[in-house]
Amino acid sequence: MIQINHYIQGRRKASQPSQLHPALNPYNGETIAEFPYASAEEVNSAVESAAEAFVHWRRSESRQRGEYLTRMADEIEKRAEQIATAISQSCGKPISEARFDVQDSVDCYRYYADIANGLDDNNNLSVTVSDKAFSSRLQYQPTGVVALITPWNFPTVTTSWKLAPALAAGCTVVLKPSEYTPLAESFLADICDAADIPPGVVNIIYGAAEAGSHLIKHPSVRKVSFTGSTTTGAFISHACADDIKNVSLELGGKSPVIVFDDADIEQAVSAVTGGILFNNGQMCSATSRLLVQQNIAPQLLRRLRQTFADMRPGDPADDNCVLGPLANQAQYEKVCAYFDIAAEEKLNLLTGGKAFAHPTSQFMVEPTIYTDVPLNSRLWTEEIFGPVLCTHTFTSEDEAIAIANDCDYGLAATIISATDEHGERIADQIEAGHIWINTDQRVLTETSWGGMKKSGLGRELGPWGLSAYREVKHITRCTGGKA
Ligand code: NAD
Repeated sequence: MIQINHYIQGRRKASQPSQLHPALNPYNGETIAEFPYASAEEVNSAVESAAEAFVHWRRSESRQRGEYLTRMADEIEKRAEQIATAISQSCGKPISEARFDVQDSVDCYRYYADIANGLDDNNNLSVTVSDKAFSSRLQYQPTGVVALITPWNFPTVTTSWKLAPALAAGCTVVLKPSEYTPLAESFLADICDAADIPPGVVNIIYGAAEAGSHLIKHPSVRKVSFTGSTTTGAFISHACADDIKNVSLELGGKSPVIVFDDADIEQAVSAVTGGILFNNGQMCSATSRLLVQQNIAPQLLRRLRQTFADMRPGDPADDNCVLGPLANQAQYEKVCAYFDIAAEEKLNLLTGGKAFAHPTSQFMVEPTIYTDVPLNSRLWTEEIFGPVLCTHTFTSEDEAIAIANDCDYGLAATIISATDEHGERIADQIEAGHIWINTDQRVLTETSWGGMKKSGLGRELGPWGLSAYREVKHITRCTGGKA
């Protein structure tokens, strides 16, 4: 049995057997590892270790930090298949998707390695000021010790989107991954060792809400970067407000996909299906609200019904698997509860709508479509986080935009139309952090990730991801007009 340990000050801290919890494979219920829940003392010790390491790490040359990040990317690549297998076993993600996640992480480390290389050269530059009697220079400083808290649906990816820019900026970290996916994240300790990351720069503690809550409130933590549910995000936001602590939040979504009547139907089927069935719909960016122009609705829904009905959940370890089980019992129960709510609300069921009977897996559900869903339905307004698509028709462009924006969330959107120009015009009017036109979902490292409204605060990836871990400081003096 694999035993996972906290990683503090570059050392693995063994736990008593009584402190260990099983990490389960949702496909077959087998225990794939055992891991500890961090006590308050262990959380404190991880933060103290990060604070101690910050003294030197913040002064390291940015080029050197770039080299560390490159080595981390190399080490992930060496273990790619092992990590992909752990991701797949931890959350039921099809192995082909898990491999994609690993490559995404590698790209992220390499991207921030490149950025780190140039940081020192672009720091402390003078600023042009209007009063010639003064000079001022702009200094970026690393924020300090940061707490990184991540969810179970994209382990490794959500971690790398935080860890790579934090290290590039010169911050030291305490990472607390989800209690559902410790195995997928446990490789990070080996990767840090192999990349020679100085002890204390990266600390990893395992546990659930209690450990996370203690971590974010620790006075030496200067920033919290959180990805997870909007409910937990609100709690974290309150806690950070009490201490005026810097916080970034990547939260839930209820994103629209809008299909216009001139769209290529096969492209629409691909975008709609991928947008709700990738990772079994357990995506913050899931386009779970389909808005389809009325005159092509019958044709599109017929094709979607067939596509969904043909997709059967299977073994995530199988190379050909496209749908696995839901990631854990709580998530399975949540999705099934929405099937009950749909029945109570008397929604029109086009396909699915129930658990999928499988000989070994208990957490499977049928890919599901409800049509003509009222705009006040709980299924239309709430994040389900499963393979459940709700559809609604529209007749005019303005109506489509109004319905798309009538939502508490604003994370992502997809637009399918015959012309890119039309898509661009609609995109300009949609309230969401990332919009795709005539393509399946793809998040490129150079572009931003994050949401409006209840989907979060701040942005990850690109230069914005780095800014999240840096303080801006100006140093101004009176020169009397001399340089
Ligand atoms: P969750 O909020 O239950 O848990 C996320 C993390 O927070 C876990 O590590 C958990 O242990 C920790 N946590 C829970 N309570 C805490 C507390 N009181 N204090 C501190 N930490 C606490 O979310 P989840 O179920 O793991 O993930 C699914 C959610 O994440 C969905 O809502 C999804 O939309 C969202 N998500 C958002 C993005 C994004 O980029 N916007 C990406 C992935 C997932």
